[in-house]
Amino acid sequence: MLDRLLNFVLQKSCPLCDRATSELLCRNCQRCLERDRLTHPAQFWQQQPRLFAWGNYSDALKRTIAKLKYDQHPELAALLGENLARSWLDASLGRDKLAIVPIPLHLEKQQQRGYNQAELVSRAFCRVTGDLHQPMGLQRIRATEALFNLSPRERERMLNQVFELGKIQPDRPVLLIDDIYTTGATARAAIQVLHRNRIRVLGIAVVATPISDLRSVL
Ligand SMILES: [Zn+2]
Repeated sequence: MLDRLLNFVLQKSCPLCDRATSELLCRNCQRCLERDRLTHPAQFWQQQPRLFAWGNYSDALKRTIAKLKYDQHPELAALLGENLARSWLDASLGRDKLAIVPIPLHLEKQQQRGYNQAELVSRAFCRVTGDLHQPMGLQRIRATEALFNLSPRERERMLNQVFELGKIQPDRPVLLIDDIYTTGATARAAIQVLHRNRIRVLGIAVVATPISDLRSVL
């Protein structure tokens, strides 16, 4: 009786479909999320920058990330970060102990949202892998939104001034973490700053990318 009562009290609704659940996502949405997982998360690891991606940015995964970022569901980062970490460990791409650096948000945006979703994802990632979490490794000194009206060349130039080195342990290779990877411009800008400071960068690991699963269509 007490168990049933406790379950009833603890039940919340699934942020994606509103069904009652005691987990972060209901079983059905978890299954849908699983369908967005890439068969080969390391398929982009040979490109520059090296990219590791858990899933395809569509359907349930896209909606989960939107809930995380825009609808005050920071708890979803734990699920996404742990999924990413387990895939990363399965792929065995980095044997060194790594410094995990999330792509920072501009301070103003972080204050508005109350958290940086990439940092929450990277924290969950480190809980699983045991790597060193360095959430202050990079600082964003310029908001990227201001760059939308610029030409591609101007934008690339301005992106070089978006990040600054923060506090970081310099003797470990860095794995960057972000929620989404699209053009790679942000990742390249972050990597450039780390390289300028003689810090080795292994690559970037993200929850989702809209670049389709190449091997599944070939
Ligand atoms: Zn659901």
